Amino acid sequence: MKQKEKEGSNENLRVVIRVRPPMAREIKDGKFISTVQAAPDNQQLCIFDYHAIELVPDEELEAFVQNPANYTIHQFTFDYVYDQESTQVEVYETTAALSVDSTLQGYNSTIIAYGQTGTGKTYTMHGFSFTPNSDQLGIIPRSLHNIFTHIQMKSNSMTTFMVRASYLQIYNESISDLLRPDNQQLNIREDKKRGVFVENLSEWAVRSPPEIYQLMRRGNAKRVTASTRMNDTSSRSHAVFIITVEQIEETPEGKRARVGKLNLVDLAGSERVRVTGATGIRLEESKKINQSLSALGNVIAALTELKQPKSHIPYRDSKITRLLEDSLGGNCKTTFMAMISPAIEAFNESLSTLKFANRAKNIRNTPMVNQDQDQGALLRKYQLEIQKLKQELDERSKLPIDSMVSELEKERQKALEDKQEVMSAYEQRNRDLVQEREMRKQLEEKISALNSQMLVGGQKIEETPQFQNALEKQQKLIRQQYQEKLQELEKERQNIEEDKAQTDKYKQLLLKQRDIMIALTNRLNERDETILQLQEELDAYDKLQKELEDINQTKDSRIKQLVELLKQKDIEIPMNLELPANSFINNAKQKLLLAEMPSSKMILVADPSSNSYIQTLPQQGSYHHSSEAVTQYELKNQIDINKKLELDLKISRMEQERQKKELVSLQDQIQKYENDPTTEQAKKSVDLILNQLTKPANGNSLATVAQELQKLQKILSDKEASPKKAVLKFQQETSNLKQQEIINKLIIKPSKSNNQLNPPPNKKQKQKSIEDLWN
Ligand code: ADP
Ligand code: MG
Repeated sequence: MKQKEKEGSNENLRVVIRVRPPMAREIKDGKFISTVQAAPDNQQLCIFDYHAIELVPDEELEAFVQNPANYTIHQFTFDYVYDQESTQVEVYETTAALSVDSTLQGYNSTIIAYGQTGTGKTYTMHGFSFTPNSDQLGIIPRSLHNIFTHIQMKSNSMTTFMVRASYLQIYNESISDLLRPDNQQLNIREDKKRGVFVENLSEWAVRSPPEIYQLMRRGNAKRVTASTRMNDTSSRSHAVFIITVEQIEETPEGKRARVGKLNLVDLAGSERVRVTGATGIRLEESKKINQSLSALGNVIAALTELKQPKSHIPYRDSKITRLLEDSLGGNCKTTFMAMISPAIEAFNESLSTLKFANRAKNIRNTPMVNQDQDQGALLRKYQLEIQKLKQELDERSKLPIDSMVSELEKERQKALEDKQEVMSAYEQRNRDLVQEREMRKQLEEKISALNSQMLVGGQKIEETPQFQNALEKQQKLIRQQYQEKLQELEKERQNIEEDKAQTDKYKQLLLKQRDIMIALTNRLNERDETILQLQEELDAYDKLQKELEDINQTKDSRIKQLVELLKQKDIEIPMNLELPANSFINNAKQKLLLAEMPSSKMILVADPSSNSYIQTLPQQGSYHHSSEAVTQYELKNQIDINKKLELDLKISRMEQERQKKELVSLQDQIQKYENDPTTEQAKKSVDLILNQLTKPANGNSLATVAQELQKLQKILSDKEASPKKAVLKFQQETSNLKQQEIINKLIIKPSKSNNQLNPPPNKKQKQKSIEDLWN
């Protein structure tokens, strides 16, 4: 069967077709057989009805579709046919933009997306992206963007716009507000001024595309969708996005108000239940969807059946037809967008959609610009109200508030006579004043709230010169306050900086004082140590002296013995016996000394048989000497030694005496220093300073610290001289004494006879002297 429709398009009712690209599930083995073909003129479309194609084996399909005997062609003409390659921009610019223009001119416009589930209705109307400038943006975001661009581009700033948006869905024949979820089960009303409208539907004043995107996102999240066989997230409701654009233009003839309304309708899928495989709730939904869609079909049929009078058009059979009453045969410029799938399995649905669209072409609308002054444009109402409020504000501003205050002040003075009475009057006045101010504030807020919802042609309200002036004034004031605040801060910062420098100075001073104290303490400690050392040395000398005395005693008794012996033998004692150096006797004398040392290995033994001493050395055997010679030598030697020892003893005692005196004088000095009241004072001063510094700094405490520091410095400079001098003197003396006198004096110098009495030599030294002796 071949069907050719004659052209029947008109400007007020446009019908366009969009063929979506095949989906993955419709492509078999990389091959896809399309049932539709659009003509290059973008107006004609053929749909191929392949006979019993489902029975043809896959491998014969290609040959089958080439044979004209196997198909019938249905050909349609529409206002525009978009094929699979069409883009969102193309659809918008060649179709939707016309509706937007009409709205901006003050017409009611409607775009209705019709078609089977999964054919791209939601994709075309919304697009699945809200990213600005995205290729995927659908008609709704593009329309709004276009409206705002139009408002901003409009050079005629004598036009004021107001844009409002509403979003509703009809699900199971119940209307709900998608932008205010608690707004459910809304009713459709009609009045002469507004025409058909949804009662209590929220309207949102919008000023920029991002605000709209936000509304759309919010609304779409609330829309009822479900997974069907045809589409993963199929819309189960009819959704209507309504954009109202009100504008007031100031013309030489007076104000001209216009209200344009754009209804963007995304219908639920038109498929038959058989195709969707719906059951249960889904089946109920489908029934309701199909009922409303058949009502739409009936309305269109009634509208296009020219014989039927208008009163019989069944708008009230469904919510969607009732709501779209103006769009269908009324005061509206309407565009039907019918979506179809090119797949063979969708052939029946596609054909019925095309037939529906074809019928719709015959609807005759009678649109007109909504510019009736009495039509109650909200914008006009707002403007009037603003004007009224402004007048009220001006009147209230004229009230002499300042003089009222001074009057109140005078009255308060008089109140000294009758306090009670005047006080109450004063209070009353005060209350009035507060009320007055409150009133003014409220009025101002109201004006700014209303202003913020309005857009002035070519610019937003905040871009008007009045607004800019006020803004600049305010900014200037803030800048000035900011500058002052900055200066104050800078001053404060400088003060803090100075305080900090002062504190640092005090700190340095304190550190210096502390170093001096430490040095002093160290010196005192050193002095204590030196005293202890001297004490020890003295003890050692005492011990040595005692030893010397003991030796002396032994020598004395020995001399006595020897003298006794000489007397017994009648031998004269020679008084000045000179012995040659290195003579045998001299050597023997040394040997005798060695014999006294218990650690020596050389032993002198009395030999009664020869009346001599036997000198024994373990390695070298024994030697015999004449006993007389030895005795004489020993005697002389002992006398020498005695004299020497006595002399040394004397020196040693003198030295001891002197050191004792020195020690006493040093102790005196220390005592004096410690008892000095200034020492105590200095300690107190340091304590006070430390105490002040541990507290948080302030002017007073810093001054106290400074004072104390000066005091301390003075004390220390006075004090430093005495202990320092004493200690230095002491150190010098002790070191001299130690190094030169004490040691030298206490060591017995060798006599003429080369006799020596040294402190006990250590083992090595001793061995060496023995070797020297016998070489
Ligand atoms: P409907 O609202 O009619 O049920 P959708 O708009 O949800 O269908 O589209 C169904 C699927 O097909 C989506 O994944 C959508 O992205 C894709 N689609 C529809 N139309 C087009 C198109 N013209 N170009 C690319 N993809 C499309
Ligand atoms: Mg959809």
